[in-house]
Amino acid sequence: GFGAMAEEDNVLVMATNAEFPPYEYHEGDEIVGIDAEVAALIAEELGMTLEIEDMAFDSVLAAVQSGKADIAMAGLTVTEDRMQSVNFTDTYATAKQVIIVKEDSDIAGPDDLSGKIVGVQTGTTGDIYVSDEEGVTVERYNKGFEAVQALTQGKIDAVVIDNEPAKVFVSENEGIKIIDEAYADEEYAIAIAKDNDELLEKVNTALNTLKENGAFQEVVDKYIND
Ligand code: GLN
Repeated sequence: GFGAMAEEDNVLVMATNAEFPPYEYHEGDEIVGIDAEVAALIAEELGMTLEIEDMAFDSVLAAVQSGKADIAMAGLTVTEDRMQSVNFTDTYATAKQVIIVKEDSDIAGPDDLSGKIVGVQTGTTGDIYVSDEEGVTVERYNKGFEAVQALTQGKIDAVVIDNEPAKVFVSENEGIKIIDEAYADEEYAIAIAKDNDELLEKVNTALNTLKENGAFQEVVDKYIND
């Protein structure tokens, strides 16, 4: 009935892959992190309730395109290629793909990856960069931490992944480090279906409000303290 419809309209569905600390990850039964909290604040600004749909990273854009989700927020890097299939909001974070290696590794930068086995999370910009490198054997994992695990077990030589999750994974594992030389800077934004300009505008307005009133920074400071 009408009541049920109105209620459904009040839910903002977010597609994500909750394997990406500090942006989205599981804490007990809950999905927490910067994206999860900022999305909840955005939903609140819109007078809506947030519902998080956890899925494989390489499904989040399709979820938005098909209308299964209203927004995708997953530490998503804006790329020209992705802009063909979805719209992006204003950006809310700067990131970069970094290289994690064993502490005694001879790899000192992207140029040294040739001839090596490199782990990435499927469908990420890290995957795209490494797949473009000449002579690299790419191992794809569903979760970033699985790639890191393979590295600590000596199955692969390096992992290419976003800098903030890299910091978390390195802090949780002995004997690995992030090397200084990294790939170019990237920007994160929220993805919204191409035909949904109304929501794009609303989310941008909400995001701006949260940036201006300090609420956004408060969430970031809670999860990133360096
Ligand atoms: N920023 C990377 C990308 O958008 C990785 C995101 C992720 O793994 N959640 O491809």
